Amino acid sequence: MDADTLRQYLEFYQDLGIKSLYRQSAPSPVPAEPQPPATASAAIVMDLPPLAPTGDTMLQIMQDIGDCRRCRLCEARSRIVFGVGNEQSPLVFVGEGPGADEDAQGIPFVGRAGQLLTQMIEGTAKKEGIELLRKDIYIANVVKCRPPENRTPEPDEMEICGQFLHRQLSVIRPKVICTLGGTAARALTGHKEGVTKMRGRWFKWQDIPVMVTYHPSYLLRAYNQEAKREAWEDLKKILHYVYD
Ligand code: URA
Repeated sequence: MDADTLRQYLEFYQDLGIKSLYRQSAPSPVPAEPQPPATASAAIVMDLPPLAPTGDTMLQIMQDIGDCRRCRLCEARSRIVFGVGNEQSPLVFVGEGPGADEDAQGIPFVGRAGQLLTQMIEGTAKKEGIELLRKDIYIANVVKCRPPENRTPEPDEMEICGQFLHRQLSVIRPKVICTLGGTAARALTGHKEGVTKMRGRWFKWQDIPVMVTYHPSYLLRAYNQEAKREAWEDLKKILHYVYD
């Protein structure tokens, strides 16, 4: 395994909250005699390097992404969709990946699902007596380039692009992260359940509370009235936690 692949593995484990790894000592090239099986005492601890550079900024992250060619999603994208909103926001929403409208405009959640998300945020805040507009919060995605045919991003694509989301979240350090849909929920919490099991519950990304809720495109389907009501409940919980 080369150094770059090893680094990507380590970053992936770090995203899952694993801070140190145990590795068996490398066997000597020509054992003089049969070796005993490795025991715990033969293990060494490797401390993982910090993932985000010290003094990291959004501008630095954007510059590091550059005209990214790190994964195959670059091939069909029109624009990299970095993220939008208030970089000091105590609340960040994380979706799966850009769709056609986002790819065309370079801004997350600007299509139909995005309009519903805006309505949900602003409408719920207003009803709850909280002064909040979409521009006050920050929105990003797990992957920054549109997957072809809006397919779910592949694990390696999420792993490669995830380092930039990780850095964005580390720069903002919000009070709460809200994941939209199963892909973002699984990527940030490390839990592998479906979104219907996870929604409405608090998880953690590092030490930051994460609330899982439905993706707005799921809520756009007419038969999802109950899911819509549940998503509104989730949002209320978040808004009161962050802004009360
Ligand atoms: N769906 C997402 O997950 N993200 C977007 O930015 C748009 C649609």
